[in-house]
Amino acid sequence: MLLKDKVALITGAASGIGKEIAMEYAKQGAKIVIADMALEAATATAKEIEQAGGTAMAVAMNVTDEAQVDKGVADAVAAYGSVDILISNAGIQIISPIVDLSLDNWKKLIAIHLDGAFLTTRACMRAMIASGKGGSVIYMGSVHSHEASPLKAPYVAAKHGLVGLAKVVAKEGAKNNIRANVICPGFVRTPLVDKQIPEQAKELGITEEEVIKNVMLKETVDGEFTTVQDVAQTAIFLAAFGSNALTGQSITVSHGWHMQ
Ligand code: NAD
Repeated sequence: MLLKDKVALITGAASGIGKEIAMEYAKQGAKIVIADMALEAATATAKEIEQAGGTAMAVAMNVTDEAQVDKGVADAVAAYGSVDILISNAGIQIISPIVDLSLDNWKKLIAIHLDGAFLTTRACMRAMIASGKGGSVIYMGSVHSHEASPLKAPYVAAKHGLVGLAKVVAKEGAKNNIRANVICPGFVRTPLVDKQIPEQAKELGITEEEVIKNVMLKETVDGEFTTVQDVAQTAIFLAAFGSNALTGQSITVSHGWHMQ
């Protein structure tokens, strides 16, 4: 068990990548806090973990809401004693050319990805310093932390921003034994991606099959989607890593779409 008795707070863990990380972390002995604005689904995920023999709780958290983030982290500390791992993962996608993008949609996406990352980082860093144990902060970046695609301006800007935030957390956190890294997945079949396939097909005037083959997987070495399992295994490796040797980095898991 690589994460025995570690407490991991995972945002957006009611679905997709975050949910898989939660399930896999629980198998590695971590106590899991499912922090999601979809409380019903978060509660169901926590129950699933408990039924499989793990330990988990759900907290209602819109990551853009300062009070909800602070309360969710405080509830986690009250229940399990500390927060040792933060996975800042909650996210959305908005498909639009810049010339048609509303300021509201720009702000909405930036708030979830960047305000959310800041607020959860601040609350968890405070808890990690208070516990005296330090911890590991992991951001869910994307190949779009390093590459750009058309129709995704706020997403690409936000995902690039997370790399900068992780570097600052690495520098500020080191004295308290807090590490920060970014995981950069390629396309993973989750509700977030399933929703954008027809949207991209419409914007680009091509079929959904062409979006998958010629847009999403075109630059991979083997035409394969990355899986939630691939990302979860990377998240285990990063959280279990034992020293500050690995901090301020981003690790790309994308079937070779992006090579650093
Ligand atoms: P998903 O839609 O399956 O899950 C996202 C979760 O985030 C949902 O449970 C949702 O309720 C939650 N959420 C959304 N807004 C929230 C908010 N304001 N506060 C709290 N929770 C909120 O998506 P996913 O594909 O699992 O994506 C998870 C992360 O991985 C995102 O940051 C996404 O950008 C990133 N990512 C996804 C892919 C991919 O191909 N799926 C690739 C690279 C990076």
